[in-house]
Amino acid sequence: SPIPDYLERVLENARPNDSGAPANYIETLANADTSKMAVALAMVDGQIYSAGDDKVEFSIQSISKAFVYAIAIEDSGLKRVLEKIGVEPSGDAFNKLSLERGSNRPMNPMINAGAITAHSLVAGPEATAKERTDRILEILSKLAGRQLQVDEEVYQAELRDADRNMGIGYMLKAAGVIHGDPREAVTGYIRQCSINVNVRDLAMMAATLCNAGIHPVTGESIIPQTSVRQVLSVMTTCGMYDAAGDWVSNIGIPAKSGVAGGIIGALPGQVGIATFSPKLDERGNSVRGVAICEQLSRDMGLHMMDVS
Ligand code: GLN
Repeated sequence: SPIPDYLERVLENARPNDSGAPANYIETLANADTSKMAVALAMVDGQIYSAGDDKVEFSIQSISKAFVYAIAIEDSGLKRVLEKIGVEPSGDAFNKLSLERGSNRPMNPMINAGAITAHSLVAGPEATAKERTDRILEILSKLAGRQLQVDEEVYQAELRDADRNMGIGYMLKAAGVIHGDPREAVTGYIRQCSINVNVRDLAMMAATLCNAGIHPVTGESIIPQTSVRQVLSVMTTCGMYDAAGDWVSNIGIPAKSGVAGGIIGALPGQVGIATFSPKLDERGNSVRGVAICEQLSRDMGLHMMDVS
């Protein structure tokens, strides 16, 4: 197949752009090896291709928000999830302490307020913190096709630096959006963000979204079609922080980025994409990751608004 050589060339095209900086709010991310770079494509028929540092693991961070939203819908029902979390882009930083005016809900599940709420809706109202995080790790592992692990160093470091997320948790509790101990929802959310993945894992997870929730390799139905539609819609409008508009017009693929430098893209019926490079632009998206996705979209005609 010519695809692996093509992917190598795409990486080399992106490499000269050395701008941006890794996230610096915890040491583990600040000290990331910024020379690492990888890309993977997973087709809906189960074929997977990758290039670069495709075995290097990094924390999934905000990319987990898309999948945990799906699990929350599965466990609590779409109606209840929509009562608790909106679907409007916020245009604000992902970690802003904000609620939608009028409804008093988090604006959407891709900002922290919405993601912490989605986390609290996993495994039903009676679930313990451990049951929620175990369930999330189990589903994410199924999607990746292998057993994933939490990076305990990232988890502990994030916990030491959790004031802002704790603030969001207490705000949600006070507004009646989450119930129970807000610290449990926040620590669980932080644990979900600390799960380690590589680009091949992420590409498979994205390809499952492209394939109506059915895992392309195992054939297992992991996410119901109606939830997949909801997740991909919200990824399209809110997945790239406040760069969502630029992203959707230039690249045109439902996507989600994470602060460790990962990005997933999921084009329904076609291909799951994952990229990794730790340096972020001022909006928090991986500089080289965005460049790689841009080239893939252009070369392969992946923009969802184009007639193929
Ligand atoms: N865990 C971090 C936070 O919640 C990073 C989330 C992200 O990837 N933006 O602040």
